[in-house]
Amino acid sequence: MAESASKAFVVGHPIAHSRSPKIHGYWLKQYGIAGSYEPVDVAPADFPAFLSGLRQAGFAGGNVTIPHKEAAWALAELRDEAAEAIGAVNTLWFEGGRLAGGNTDAHGFAANLDEYAPGWARNGPVMVLGAGGAARAVIHACLQRGVREVRILNRTPARAQELADRFGAGVSAHPLAAAAEFLPGTGLLVNTTSLGMHGNSEIPVDPSVMPDQAIVTDIVYVPLETPLLAAARTRGLKTVDGLGMLLHQAVPGFERWFGIRPQVTPELRALVVADLDAGA
Ligand code: NAP
Repeated sequence: MAESASKAFVVGHPIAHSRSPKIHGYWLKQYGIAGSYEPVDVAPADFPAFLSGLRQAGFAGGNVTIPHKEAAWALAELRDEAAEAIGAVNTLWFEGGRLAGGNTDAHGFAANLDEYAPGWARNGPVMVLGAGGAARAVIHACLQRGVREVRILNRTPARAQELADRFGAGVSAHPLAAAAEFLPGTGLLVNTTSLGMHGNSEIPVDPSVMPDQAIVTDIVYVPLETPLLAAARTRGLKTVDGLGMLLHQAVPGFERWFGIRPQVTPELRALVVADLDAGA
């Protein structure tokens, strides 16, 4: 529940690129809450001191982004189940006077697909491209929703294997080159690599060999339609862009700090799209 301070932050290094202040600022205005949500740039060496001073600075909590998510995991006094499974914290709040850490990326991923591709978790085997922090959140969400088979494909197969070992039964690791072999039997394809982002090369995966009912989603949202999503759309497959994940992952934090569960509305989405278009 909200503390009287109603003051929250997003901490990262750098932080200027973060869209989170836009999202939370919209909701604060929308719900008429006299609170604040401010970006804070903190270098890694200063992060523990920043966390120790949160109470005194009057913060109810906040978001944590690159490069502090693992440090926040280690420094939180309590952790929710998602943070525990993912090994990273992106949301902090106080619980009984103790600093609690959660991870809302898995929630954001699932809620985005619930909105645009209901039934996604029963669509067959999932192929996850990439084995970084975002892949962990995606795999956790899939397993929570009852997906029986998750195949992780990564440029560095050893990192995919680490995740397969971490998550256990139903999760397997493969090199990126195995994509062509598995795509005809894949119900949901998820790109969690940074490939396809403006300025990066395309992911070398061709969704045209996927089944007719397959779903393709990309968690990269700049551009909104990545080359992978464009190829899947041309093939006639259902596609879901990554912006909804960003918007939905913000919901649980806002509720914890300000006491209202906010809605992800078309108006909020349009506001963030305009911000992305402006290249801000
Ligand atoms: P990360 O931990 O650095 O992982 C990056 C992944 O991309 C690794 O699997 C890496 O493979 C792969 N990769 C990078 N360059 C590659 C290349 N040239 N060829 C093949 N694979 C390559 O990053 P992350 O935190 O997981 O984030 C990944 C992306 O997701 C970022 O673009 C981030 O902005 C986005 N994201 C979006 C949301 C959202 O809300 N929509 C949330 C979180 C993250 P190796 O293991 O071989 O290096």
